[in-house]
Amino acid sequence: MDRFKAQRELHAAVKTCGADPFGVKMDKIVSSTEAMIEGRRTILCGSNNYLGFTFDADCIEAAKKALETSGTGTTGSRIANGSYNDHKALEADLADFYGKKHCMVFTTGYQANLGAISTLAGPDDFLIIDADSHASIYDACKLGSATVIRFKHNDPTDLDKRLARLADQPGNKIVVVEGIYSMLGDHAPLKEFVAVTKKHNAYILVDEAHSMGVLGKTGQGLVEHDDVLEEVDFITGTFSKSMGAVGGFLVSNMDDFDVLRVACRPYMFTASLPPATIASVRTSLAKLRANPGLMEKLWQNVDTLYHGAQNAGFTVGKQKGPVVAIHLTDPALAARAWRALLLNGVYVNLALPPATPSGTALLRCSVSAAHSTEQLERVVSILANVGRDLGLLKSPAHAVAA
Ligand code: PMP
Repeated sequence: MDRFKAQRELHAAVKTCGADPFGVKMDKIVSSTEAMIEGRRTILCGSNNYLGFTFDADCIEAAKKALETSGTGTTGSRIANGSYNDHKALEADLADFYGKKHCMVFTTGYQANLGAISTLAGPDDFLIIDADSHASIYDACKLGSATVIRFKHNDPTDLDKRLARLADQPGNKIVVVEGIYSMLGDHAPLKEFVAVTKKHNAYILVDEAHSMGVLGKTGQGLVEHDDVLEEVDFITGTFSKSMGAVGGFLVSNMDDFDVLRVACRPYMFTASLPPATIASVRTSLAKLRANPGLMEKLWQNVDTLYHGAQNAGFTVGKQKGPVVAIHLTDPALAARAWRALLLNGVYVNLALPPATPSGTALLRCSVSAAHSTEQLERVVSILANVGRDLGLLKSPAHAVAA
């Protein structure tokens, strides 16, 4: 019996494109939007660097200073020797940004979900999660001891039905949704979800990984965009996307929040974030807060790529946003398209099941505020040519000339 049969078969199918889409090596990072790959200068159109902070001069300067003053790593967990003033300061910054009383910072966004969700719900409780939830949410359910119930993706009526069936259960019910879904780029109907959740006296946790720094007037995410910040009980997020670094967080007004610090295993049993990372994230958050207009450039760029791909004749995700998902069906053909893009100097993510919902194969493109219009127009033109060559366009007449 081969435990990895499915993975091996899928990997073999995609490698028929002539390269390994899951083993790409960036030889040199040129900027927040370009890298050298296989000797070619390549436009990065598959990162999550939504605000382009990875090469921001102030973030780099802050990180360098922290490196010099506080060293390369904390070499310890937050409950041992790994809580520095700056970890606490970042927690205070985030609590303030969200107008919530408390914040815990984790070493990754994955761990923020793993820790928050597995710890908040106990053995008598219920986690009611969107069926298209990110792997970190599914893994949190496995790590924890609560009963797990899935509802149909983005379907408040289905959520209502499932919560109604739990009406006689005394345990806590925690609904888990995401602001922007990482693969298809669609938003949760959060206003409706919050209304259903409150009707059933349940709690709601929103993962703003892809929506912080992207949605809302000040960049808080979908909670702000849909004006439900007050009603949302828990928000998780990551520093690995719009903040341009690594790490994750949980904010909440929960009473007795600090008990989580001595109950949450993915917080307690891993080393804390290095000081340089904390410093760069504090700087990127401060810059977003000082200049929320940064998001305008991101959304202008979203228009260019989303409508460009759509006009070229591709089937793109329903909701416009910085994740532009080009829908294909056959993984091997999607891999050929991915490879052709790379050979033409464009990197996008090849996303395949089980990372994608409903067995779709996606060319997952993503947009950054740091992309120039010229870069994105070039991406659209190359996409159109590859789409035409491989017969991927719905309406090839719209294909853009190179
Ligand atoms: N939540 C969602 C919705 C994500 O897409 C991701 C990562 N892509 C994470 C959490 C985990 O974040 P990180 O990569 O910072 O661990």
